Amino acid sequence: MAYKIMIDSGHGGTDPGAVYNGRQEKDDALRLALAVGDILERNGVNVEYTRTEDIYQTPFEKAQIGNDSGADFFISFHRNSSPSPNQYSGVETLVYDPSGQKLDMAENINGALGELGFRELGVKSRPGLVVLRRTKMPAVLIEAGFINSDEDNQIFDSQFQDVAQAIASAILGTLNEGTVEDSPDSQDIFYRVQVGSFRERAYADKLLYELEDQGFPAFILREDGLYKVQVGAFKNLENAVKMERALRSAGYSTWIDAAPAS
Ligand SMILES: [Zn+2]
Repeated sequence: MAYKIMIDSGHGGTDPGAVYNGRQEKDDALRLALAVGDILERNGVNVEYTRTEDIYQTPFEKAQIGNDSGADFFISFHRNSSPSPNQYSGVETLVYDPSGQKLDMAENINGALGELGFRELGVKSRPGLVVLRRTKMPAVLIEAGFINSDEDNQIFDSQFQDVAQAIASAILGTLNEGTVEDSPDSQDIFYRVQVGSFRERAYADKLLYELEDQGFPAFILREDGLYKVQVGAFKNLENAVKMERALRSAGYSTWIDAAPAS
């Protein structure tokens, strides 16, 4: 398997993170992290977790677990919080600095979550955060909406599986875009089923909504100045072919984009 990803659920144990009406960030983070990890695993990614239970770890411990694992990516799950309830809403993804593949991944994750109805607050540099600074591999920290925003919680709860799928698809799509710095010898390939490619985001959005209405796990990948509407990113060609068949019988013209991971 080409890629190993360390999935980190923020906080845990005696550190609940942000709290709102009894709802604790550590629980939302763990639930989402496990759901995303599960999808990644089913697509052939080697997934490891900093925690799968409600235990306390310092941010340094989390970074250390990542470094010891030799993972290619470190992805940390959190929920945001504003000083007063319902003051802010939206998703943002944090990186150490705005460069490299982690920036693409962060932008793709934000974009995918934006399609589900979250406000997109953008990618922010947070060089001071321990899990971003002390990890040796590219790292992103996802703030999956504000835990004290009823609007964000509504999306998080009512579309939970879509939220997990959107993040996983964005991760899988990004992995295919270029070389992961830590695995230069990788020979693995991702197969993506592309349904359209546009210079204008509005056209890409239109196709995306149409596909989503029919239950396809579609997402938009920004690549080479284009908005590419794709469904899935499969390690297994058979699965990509199955998806292509389903799309074709729904009337779409598709092609499979096979790109080596290195
Ligand atoms: Zn947090």
